Amino acid sequence: MRDYSQLQKEIDHCSKCGNCLAACPIYGELNIETAGSRARVFLFSQFLEGNLEVTDKFAEIMSLCLLCKNCTATCPNGVATDKLVMAARREVVAKKGLPLIKKTIFHHLLTHNGRLNLAARFLNVYQRSGLRWLARKSGILKVLPGQLSEKENLLPDMQGTSPFRKEFPKLNPVEAPKKKVAYFTGCMTNYVFQNTGRAVLGVLKENEVEVIIPDQICCGVPAEASGDEDTFLKLAEKNVRFFSEYEVDAIITDCPSCGLALMEYGEKLGTEQARKFSEKVKDITEFLVKDIELKTPKGSLPLTVTYHDPCHAIRGMKLQKEPRQLLKNIPGLELREMNGANQCCGSAGSFNLSYYDLSMKILDKKLNNIEKTEAQVVATACPACEMQIGHGVRKKNLPQKVVHPIELLYEAYQSK
Ligand code: SF4
Ligand code: SF4
Repeated sequence: MRDYSQLQKEIDHCSKCGNCLAACPIYGELNIETAGSRARVFLFSQFLEGNLEVTDKFAEIMSLCLLCKNCTATCPNGVATDKLVMAARREVVAKKGLPLIKKTIFHHLLTHNGRLNLAARFLNVYQRSGLRWLARKSGILKVLPGQLSEKENLLPDMQGTSPFRKEFPKLNPVEAPKKKVAYFTGCMTNYVFQNTGRAVLGVLKENEVEVIIPDQICCGVPAEASGDEDTFLKLAEKNVRFFSEYEVDAIITDCPSCGLALMEYGEKLGTEQARKFSEKVKDITEFLVKDIELKTPKGSLPLTVTYHDPCHAIRGMKLQKEPRQLLKNIPGLELREMNGANQCCGSAGSFNLSYYDLSMKILDKKLNNIEKTEAQVVATACPACEMQIGHGVRKKNLPQKVVHPIELLYEAYQSK
């Protein structure tokens, strides 16, 4: 077993007060002590002390976590439960190995852009050729096991026929650039939400920022969150190498899960090159409101918008004001806060696939809060949240459009 002395020190500070329990969305839904954050701390401490083996039950309790960081943010004693859950998942993989499906995806798909492109192409054909219509209409998805019909609906229409990184050149120059950035697009923008990527490029061009889109690969979060640290480190090392070829002012991303992972590459890889890389990472909203003088659009966008805070943005990258400031910069746009804007939407990577019903119960609370605002648009600066909330909106036939805030800013620039 690896050295967990630092984690052990943190765990020793746990007074079992239960503050984190009240904030844990899983406990909030299931109301079972063993499904909550405090139990995860206790179980891992027992494991470290040698009183507990890695069993199927241990693995299940550790997998029942959104990694939303609510517990960590509310703990008065600074116990980072989400980090301990990740450690526990690593131990589960060390003992039992990865399930076949995850092993195939992490080892043979995420690590090869060509294969990912091919998989995305199949999905594109499925969506556009009428195959999806046929699958839904025929009812075949409903008779297949594993709630396939609902889960298939999680994936929205892909916004392009090819990956975003194939649509644009590596170098996107502007005349007399004020800054130069490298753009880490993430898989969701590359394959599903190409409009977000187009908006990022459009907004940066409008603000005279030169953009390089270096070669890159998945940030590794899906593998790391499943306990496959080896794959995560391999991907991290590749990304650092690719991006270090360029001298830039910042490395920007439109996904806070990717962003947080990139910010932690330095510490996890432990090299000087990785540390330099991580120091430059910024969310696009932060870069726009803090690093440049953001141009106010000449045109107006008369929309009511409510904003959902992605967990990894608000509690990971500590971004709360920045996306709101970006939205407030748009003339005509009215920002209407929802209750519980900072509460998890239940997406959490593949949690919504593994625990679909539970994930939907957490999402329902978010949708109710959205509905109460009567806003026309839900903005969220995270593609995974956009997918989850978009799924809920379609399922409940709600009128809201769900977008990344950068798309609204781009729309305002275009309407001048
Ligand atoms: S809030 Fe912190 S100290 Fe209290 S039970 Fe949770 S982890 Fe322990
Ligand atoms: S990270 Fe979220 S889901 Fe996991 S234990 Fe903490 S509060 Fe609960």
